[in-house]
Amino acid sequence: MVIPGAVDVHVHLRHPGGSHKETPETGTAAALAGGVVAILAMPNTLPPLATPADLRASLDQIATRIRCDVGAYYGATDTNADMIAEQNAIACGLKIYLNDTYGPLRLETLAAAAQHFSAWPASRPLVVHAEGLMTAAAIGLAAAHRRPVHIAHVSRREEIELIAAAKEAGLPVTCEVTPHHLWLTHADGIALGGYGEVRPALASAADRDALWSHLNVVDCIATDHAPHSREEKEDVSPPPGMPGLETSLPLLFTAVADGRLTADRAVELLSTTPARLFRIPTPAHSEVRLELGGPWSVPDSGFQTRADWSPFAGMAVRARVVSTTLRGQSHGMARKSSLRREPGTF
Ligand SMILES: [Zn+2]
Repeated sequence: MVIPGAVDVHVHLRHPGGSHKETPETGTAAALAGGVVAILAMPNTLPPLATPADLRASLDQIATRIRCDVGAYYGATDTNADMIAEQNAIACGLKIYLNDTYGPLRLETLAAAAQHFSAWPASRPLVVHAEGLMTAAAIGLAAAHRRPVHIAHVSRREEIELIAAAKEAGLPVTCEVTPHHLWLTHADGIALGGYGEVRPALASAADRDALWSHLNVVDCIATDHAPHSREEKEDVSPPPGMPGLETSLPLLFTAVADGRLTADRAVELLSTTPARLFRIPTPAHSEVRLELGGPWSVPDSGFQTRADWSPFAGMAVRARVVSTTLRGQSHGMARKSSLRREPGTF
């Protein structure tokens, strides 16, 4: 099966400051290996990308090292809502953290959040990490400021039900779900130990089932690819996050094989809708070749991501990525070492 390249609007490239977890080279190689041609990188790095100078420097540093297209979010802080013109020129969107997660970025007050919702251009993507009651806060802020909001990694039944109701009421809200919240539960998280630590935390089977039954409400599948080293995940206090770029398409097209959604709908969720919502230019002469059949088992290692592990290891999939072509250049499974860089940042 040949499908358009996937667009992943939620990826942690870990640059700057996290090169032992991921590098621009390994993160974008993981994207291509997973059938992803464009990624949007999150700003909770070290330092966080929360000044125009730091964001510009990071994009300049990675420009010659990336293998697929990359955009970068600007990170909202309590004090940086006034730099909008400069941020807007270089960022793919604004990311606002309303709950605690990995890294130091988090807004502390309603006033700070309101300032960003008011200042950030309504025509540009605004993404929130907003769990539980914060989902309602984000939707309320978007409605009050007459601007769209995109809710990252929706994981709970009550959140997806609220988003469904908000959409029904005509409010400008879109959302993404991750493969790990669609496939894994709290029970899997216990079995995975530190490797199962993630934010939002893995939820109940009822929550997972609610995401599937509300798939018509979901706009994008985004991986929230958040690599950490095995050493870190085996530590007494493992940081939250798990890699996902190389397993998203195999899992989604396994669901297609199982009749849980159509191939057309999978392409919408993985490619067409995220590209439209985030205004990501579609690269010419680009496609992904999938092999359907199997079943194949997700391996324990041998991934392109520097983290080189997967929470889905051992899971049976009925699809795999044979090659990803980006602007006429094919990146096949057997050609890992010969990847060449063509693309750029946007
Ligand atoms: Zn994330």
